[in-house]
Amino acid sequence: MRNPLKVYWLAFYLLFSFWAEAGPATSTVRFSFIETSQSKGAQEAMVVKGGSWWTRRHLTHGAVLIEHPQGTLLYDTGLGTQVDEQFAGNSWLAKQLFAFTHPRPLITQLQENHYPVQNIDAIIPSHLHWDHASGLVDFPGIPIWVQPSELESARSGEMPSFLQSQINSDTLNWHTMELPENPFLNFTRSLDIFHDGSVVLVDLSGHTAAQVGLFLKLSEAEQYLFIGDTTWTLEGVINNKPRPGMLKIVVEVEDNQSLADQRIAQVHELYKTYPELVIVPAHDERVAADLPHFPEFSQP
Ligand SMILES: [Zn+2]
Repeated sequence: MRNPLKVYWLAFYLLFSFWAEAGPATSTVRFSFIETSQSKGAQEAMVVKGGSWWTRRHLTHGAVLIEHPQGTLLYDTGLGTQVDEQFAGNSWLAKQLFAFTHPRPLITQLQENHYPVQNIDAIIPSHLHWDHASGLVDFPGIPIWVQPSELESARSGEMPSFLQSQINSDTLNWHTMELPENPFLNFTRSLDIFHDGSVVLVDLSGHTAAQVGLFLKLSEAEQYLFIGDTTWTLEGVINNKPRPGMLKIVVEVEDNQSLADQRIAQVHELYKTYPELVIVPAHDERVAADLPHFPEFSQP
């Protein structure tokens, strides 16, 4: 009997092979971070266990644009043009907890800079929580790739984590893929998108049903691991600490707490083993400050 995982994988590969025909004319892999908003601010102790009560953090909401000679990808979409309407149905408490400032939607920034949006071959959300999926509706028709259980749980998910207006639009071009059993770093499941080790998806299930991380290799000396919301800040990775327990009073943040804790331990291990690897939690504004910001790209 055919292995269904291999079928998913094959479909993904074939689509990328097709996209390679129309891909951008870059000769190397490069990326750019696009900040779409920041949180209004919270004490660090509210975003990571053991964090300081004296330090104010303004978590970032962004997306990563990756150009490879064989295709262009978005990892996450940040806050989109419809975020105010999407967010409006939330409870008063959620609106305070997840308040954000001055959205500058991804699509708007791309268009203002005359970026060829039609060259974007796929969107790969780290997961489908509201702050990562908000911009999806701004890219009608562009294939969105997620693991099947992520889409299933998002479709039955509830506020404040999931907003149905972001997930259930007819204009969204969903595709599902299961990451195959393929060890990479200390992950058991991974997908090397272009078969050259430069862009590799890894399974980070735990925070949500099937969150994916993205390993990006620009050169031997320059490598990144985007970890979605495994932790909100790098302090969580460095100290192997989850989000503070008090958050649970307000909202159930993790899909599976023990698996989420395992993922943090896994990334913490990588942090210790590969000190040169730049680990990027999706919301850490300090880590993001050191990334190339759109319209600037990483240099070869
Ligand atoms: Zn998030």
